[in-house]
Order: sequence, then C-alpha cells, then structure tokens
Amino acid sequence: MAALLRDGATALFLDFDGTLVDLAAKPDAIEVHPGLALALKGLAQRLDGRLALVSGRSIDDLEQHLGPLSVAVAGSHGAEKRLADGSVLGAKPDGIETAVTSELATFALTHNIDLETKSHGAALHYRSVPDKEDEARAFAAQIAQTHGLEVKLGKCVVELVARGANKGSAVRAFMETKPFLGSRPFFIGDDVTDEDGFAACAKLGGDGILVGTRESKARYVLKGVADVHQWLELV
Ligand SMILES: [Mg+2]
Repeated sequence: MAALLRDGATALFLDFDGTLVDLAAKPDAIEVHPGLALALKGLAQRLDGRLALVSGRSIDDLEQHLGPLSVAVAGSHGAEKRLADGSVLGAKPDGIETAVTSELATFALTHNIDLETKSHGAALHYRSVPDKEDEARAFAAQIAQTHGLEVKLGKCVVELVARGANKGSAVRAFMETKPFLGSRPFFIGDDVTDEDGFAACAKLGGDGILVGTRESKARYVLKGVADVHQWLELV
C-alpha cells in the first residue's frame, strides 16, 4: 500500500462485512476489532480523506458497530451517501413500502429465515437454513418485480433495495466529488455486490481487490479479513 500511495492520489473504497470484519451467523453477531474505527480514521488521513466505506448495511447500522464515523460512507448499497464532514451526498432515497415488509415477514416466518428490515431495504438471511436459498431467491425476485425493486444476492443473503442503488454508482458519486475527484480508485470487497464497485474503479483507472477466491472482475486478491487489515496497515 505504501507503494500505491507514493504512486499518486489514490482513493480507497472498502466493503465492511467479510472485508473489514469476519462474517457471522447473524448480521448483529459480528465482532468488530475495538480499534477499527480509529484505524480507519487514520487511514483516511493518510489518503487525504479519499476513503469511503461502501456497505450493504445502512449507515445507522454501521455506526451501531463502529461508533460515529468520521470517514465518508455509503450505506444500503449506495442508496445513502455521506461525506466525511457529515454532509449528505445525492438525494435521500425512499424507504421500502410496509406492504413489502409484511410480505417478506410472512415468508421469513414460514421458512425459518431471518428477516432484517433496513431503512432503505430488507434482507432475507438464510445462513442457518442454507437449503432455502432457491426459495428465498425466487421469492425476492417475485417481490422485486411486483414492487419495482432490485435484488442483491450475497453470501446466504438476498436483499431488496431501490432500483439503481449499487456499489458502482456509489463509487462514481464519490469520485465526482472532492477530495476523491481526479484520484485513482481501488475497491476492496468480498461479495458479488462488490463487483459493481470493482468495475466502476477499473473504468476510472483503478482496480478491484477481491477478498477471498472466486471468479471476479477484480485484478488483485487478498485472502481474508486479516490480510485486508495487514495490507491497509490497520493493525
Ligand atoms: Mg462483504
């Protein structure tokens, strides 16, 4: 990373779950390294502010785990974006309709799946019942079509979010804004939803860094969360 920083203005976009923290059985069960928030702040300073967290979680949810964030952040797959100084970037998105939430709640209850309702979407978590994957994905696709939403597939999770919200659009929005403007962006992430971020960075002269192993648009690979921390010099 030191070499990358010497190379010119670099921006880093970081996924959260599976990238900065290990995945857990349930989203609330993650264990966050106590020094992580402070380390991210330090990293942002090294990058002259060109650091953003880009997560599927809402910003509120991220702050419940990390405390108040003093770095740029995109939550809900880019549906909500905030700069480091706290100012909101882009339009505030609509929440998900109550009708959608109640249909999902019924489905989740019947299939023993965990429903997570978010400020800008909802997620069905089936880590404890992995054989329900096909049913959960099919149901989410049907709901998305009926209500004009978009489906995001992840590791043992299927999510419904507003159309157009994705990690690539979040990267582009930050990159049009100071202090990101004109820098070379890199996106670090582990999941399928991070591919949009990898592609956006590649198009802007940077690249993707995949956490883990699978087919990916990312040119670089880090093995796991510990390697991310080490590479970013967070530990
Ligand atoms: Mg992830």
